[in-house]
Amino acid sequence: MIFFRQVSMIPIHDILPHLVAPLKSGEITRFAPSPSGYLHLGHAFSAMFASSLAATSGGLMCLRIDDIDTTRCREIYFDAIFEDLAFLGIPYEEPVRYQSQHLSASHEALEYLKNQDLIYPCYLSRRELAELLSAPHHPSNTDQLITSNIRSEREADGNQPAWRLRMATIRDRFRDIQATDLIHGQVNIVLENIGDEVIARKDIGTSYHLSTVLDDDAMGVSLVSRGYDLFDAIPVQRILQELLGITPPRYAHHELIPNEQGQRLAKRENALSLRQMRQNGCDRDLILRMMTKCRNFIEKK
Ligand code: GLU
Repeated sequence: MIFFRQVSMIPIHDILPHLVAPLKSGEITRFAPSPSGYLHLGHAFSAMFASSLAATSGGLMCLRIDDIDTTRCREIYFDAIFEDLAFLGIPYEEPVRYQSQHLSASHEALEYLKNQDLIYPCYLSRRELAELLSAPHHPSNTDQLITSNIRSEREADGNQPAWRLRMATIRDRFRDIQATDLIHGQVNIVLENIGDEVIARKDIGTSYHLSTVLDDDAMGVSLVSRGYDLFDAIPVQRILQELLGITPPRYAHHELIPNEQGQRLAKRENALSLRQMRQNGCDRDLILRMMTKCRNFIEKK
């Protein structure tokens, strides 16, 4: 194993916020971008953040490419991730993990959950579900919304189902589940508030949640660090870890870097990419200084 080379240029203390729980020594963190757009300042911050946590604890940062959603991934964005990280001078552990190369683990996990009757197939589209749920006196369990006629018709037509958590059973099996976030403290997950989430989409046979939980575990990630926009992913991911017997990692959800209007940056809205900033003459130090400034700005709010 190659040990993490601490990069002295990264302003570690400028990037790390106050932690409510201490770092353990040798934390394994990861940066997990999706190759569905160019990385922006928010990604740079996330990568720096994961890298700083790892370096401060004497651990490692791994890179994972979240490429399960083939409809949104593009070859140019894969290459751009490596170029942008090189430009920022952020080292990562080799080999890089590609989520799409580990789909068999998701399929095995699904088989296990099916055999335990913890998930059920759902043949309804989002729109059909929304219509049924808007009707008065609808059943509370999504599974009861689909009549056996529709189900057998769609099965016979060869339609692939999505797979949803059977929360009624899961609630009986577990008491409340907790997660530890080094920035936000203890997170208590109230199972009553969680619906029958899709954990395998019909088109790809897995989901962001399932692949993330399995890959984080396979990579030995001890600290999942990522932006606060994914804070709400904790409950489903913690439930999946409990169901699959996975030792939970700890979490660190950092604040989001705002744009000039104070809104979060998003790839879909063509947020200024690192690539564009570079073409406009920004060098690495300027980008680092901008991130530090953004952090100070968020902290003072
Ligand atoms: N691939 C996700 C993204 O780019 C991040 C997944 C995660 O950190 O859990 O937003």
